[in-house]
Amino acid sequence: MICIFLGAPGSGKGTQAKKVCAAFGMKYIGTGEILRDNVASGTELGKRVKVTLVAGHLVDDKTMIQIIEEKIKKEDSFLMDGFPRTVPQAEALDGLFEKYGKKVNTVIFLDVDAREVTKRILGRFSCPSCGKDYNVYTDDIKDRLCPSDGAQLIQRSDDTEETVRERIEEYSRKTAPLKEFYENRRSLINVRGTGSPSEIFERITEALDNKN
Ligand code: AMP
Repeated sequence: MICIFLGAPGSGKGTQAKKVCAAFGMKYIGTGEILRDNVASGTELGKRVKVTLVAGHLVDDKTMIQIIEEKIKKEDSFLMDGFPRTVPQAEALDGLFEKYGKKVNTVIFLDVDAREVTKRILGRFSCPSCGKDYNVYTDDIKDRLCPSDGAQLIQRSDDTEETVRERIEEYSRKTAPLKEFYENRRSLINVRGTGSPSEIFERITEALDNKN
């Protein structure tokens, strides 16, 4: 199965995408995570994209298409979280799928409004020690310490108020049109992204089960 996850930053895409991959045995391909790993380990790519990520802007299409081609060419069953993010990326993806004889089964759009995503992003923290993700609005967090191991929780460097505004604007300008792009191909499924994480997960798995 090949799946694309669409949704605003903070819509819960990453969390849900990883759970779906575990449940359906798909490989998780998250372009944001790939870029952050490159920044953290100081690769040439990481050095080049660091400023763009911190400013909340999108990395150029050519770079992203090269990254995704390397990732998908050997995979049969995968889920893309964070790609495509522009219409030119979606068009290039069509070309790559044709080149490697693949086809998208489902595009899931996680529907959450801008006010809610801003709140969620600003409440998001992770543990540098065990890697777990938390949200101060939904998890029982005291003094910003990890409930599992007591380590001081940290925030992503692009989860600041100013960067979030920029990321949401970039999303509205460049990524939101993809909803129509995939609606026109009848591959888009709209999933309400509010409620508890387990309720949202149930809606997604139901949509995927019905489609396949
Ligand atoms: P995410 O973790 O998906 O929110 O992505 C974090 C950041 O990585 C974004 O704000 C962009 O700067 C960059 N990024 C991730 N995926 C893409 C993409 N497909 N195109 C352009 N920039 C991307």
